[in-house]
Amino acid sequence: METTLRGVGVSHGVAIGQVRHMGTAVLEPPVKEIPAEEAEREQQRARHAVEATAADLTARGNLAGGEAQAVLEAQALMAQDPELMADVDRRIAAGGTAERSVYDAFSRYRELLAGAGEYMAQRVADLDDVRNRIVARLLGVPMPGVPDSDEPYVLIARDLAPADTALLDPTLVLGFVTEEGGPTSHSAILARALGVPAVVALPGASEITEGTVVAVDGSTGDLFVEPSGAKRAELAKAAEERRAALAASSGPGATSDGHKVPLLANIGGPGDVPAAVEAGAEGVGLFRTEFLFLDDSKNAPSRDKQIQSYRSVLEAFPEGRVVVRVLDAGADKPLDFLTPTDEPNPALGVRGLRTLLDHPDILATQLTALAEAAEGLPVHLDVMAPMVADRHDARAFADACRTAGLNAKFGAMVEIPSAALRARSLLQEVEFLSLGTNDLAQYTFAADRQVGALSRLQDPWQPALLDLIALAADAARTEGKSCGVCGEAASDPLLACVLTGLGVTSLSMGATAIPYVRATLANHTLAQCERAAAAARATDTADEARRAAQAVLSEEG
Ligand code: PEP
Ligand code: MG
Repeated sequence: METTLRGVGVSHGVAIGQVRHMGTAVLEPPVKEIPAEEAEREQQRARHAVEATAADLTARGNLAGGEAQAVLEAQALMAQDPELMADVDRRIAAGGTAERSVYDAFSRYRELLAGAGEYMAQRVADLDDVRNRIVARLLGVPMPGVPDSDEPYVLIARDLAPADTALLDPTLVLGFVTEEGGPTSHSAILARALGVPAVVALPGASEITEGTVVAVDGSTGDLFVEPSGAKRAELAKAAEERRAALAASSGPGATSDGHKVPLLANIGGPGDVPAAVEAGAEGVGLFRTEFLFLDDSKNAPSRDKQIQSYRSVLEAFPEGRVVVRVLDAGADKPLDFLTPTDEPNPALGVRGLRTLLDHPDILATQLTALAEAAEGLPVHLDVMAPMVADRHDARAFADACRTAGLNAKFGAMVEIPSAALRARSLLQEVEFLSLGTNDLAQYTFAADRQVGALSRLQDPWQPALLDLIALAADAARTEGKSCGVCGEAASDPLLACVLTGLGVTSLSMGATAIPYVRATLANHTLAQCERAAAAARATDTADEARRAAQAVLSEEG
């Protein structure tokens, strides 16, 4: 029977398909004794599971190619290690179940590896993955990580870490639903980057049975479980009409009376460029370079690899503006070789620019790679730092850019309330500001952006957040400099009008939101946007602010 659940819609569109769950870490199988006559059958079960896991890893390697193939083949070999298998057999003969014996044999091997020097210790995570796969197969539970499926599916996860993203095949993931994660979490950002409908902060999502057909409406936040034929047809029709209307809007971003607001794309790397170009992005407002670093959490990418990646993005926007954000590691994007592991509150610890100032070599390599990538290209390169707290930070970043000989504008992200409060002081050191409203909301409301239960406080319509945005935009106007928004706030079409009314000079968002924002902005005058902004700021809650702005924007221009 059709039931409806409601979360927070974070990426427009409708997806209908079968549920596949993101496998969670394998639980430790219980210790159970088996009778001696079952030992042979258990040993066979263990062998089959090992062989099937090795075959699966090899097949995945063949599909992936490149460096991933080498890693997966090495894992396939680990799975079949004769000594490990002999240990599993011995443990079963002594009365263990197949799953427990595999678990224990691998744990012993793990200890040996962990104590055998740094190189071997780094293989521990690969070994754990192999163990989890074999045990999951034996227990008949979903494989850990991204589901194995040849058919397109709707992915349900508790939350998605940026590191999971590398493994997702956008041709198979029809839509996302997560139980955790607020509107500014990286699962939401990732869904927008993939251009698939998504709903986050939906309690109970993980209880939906694997294989159930669901319809995800990423605009309203509704999840229809076992939707009727009529409901499916209604959703598909509405989505199609919306798409057609949007396809009709094109050109640079502007209000109906011609006030220009460049619409830029947020990207994680060259792979996101085609969608940005197709959506008509006027450039890139946020290139999250950390995704280049997440490929290998043990080492920074080489200078050459960085140059190649930066250049391919810069070449895609020959006359446009490309804002590259230097590495933003830490908190929910930890890197083994940079991020401290002993911090009680990583979001309040050494992350973003703080990490780079502690590792000037990493920053210098990134900046010189950018300088070289931009050489000879007509592009307007802007470079900005994440998590700038004060003028001292802004100056340190500008100094590093100058030392690297970068021919670009240097900017600061406004993600910490102190930066918004003292925006004029920051602007004595840098040439532009970019509001990272995701983190700005997190730090203004002391509400972890990864915690779905706090989504009310991460709502970018919160009047206190609008006040801070207004402060930064006013400071930039006074200094004759620009102040854009590159947080997820920019991708909400109504809020985009309010941000414009607050004096924000450009809007950067996931490519799929660009047509929605362009079409809405083109329907309203600048004066109307300013009135909507004032009306929203005069309220006390996010819901009231949204309604107040909506009322003004529904009036005739
Ligand atoms: C932000 O915090 O708003 C932002 C754009 O940066 P990120 O989401 O990558 O932290
Ligand atoms: Mg941020």
